[in-house]
Amino acid sequence: MSAFTPDEVVNLDFYQRHGNFHPFTCPHRNDGAHRAVGGDLGALFPTVRGWSYPFCDYTQNWAHDFMLKKGTQ
Ligand SMILES: [Zn+2]
Repeated sequence: MSAFTPDEVVNLDFYQRHGNFHPFTCPHRNDGAHRAVGGDLGALFPTVRGWSYPFCDYTQNWAHDFMLKKGTQ
């Protein structure tokens, strides 16, 4: 079962990179093994399987409701 729909993934990506909010990040981003990609150190990437991260196994399958809707800026 998908965590997010394809359209929701697009909207989550928008909020990660263009919103006025701090992006979702891996909670372990300061351990030295993480890198700054996607706009911030440890910034998570939305997928239909949930949030994912290129440098570790952290995942997250929730988002704020407003982030699932299309952004306006
Ligand atoms: Zn991590």
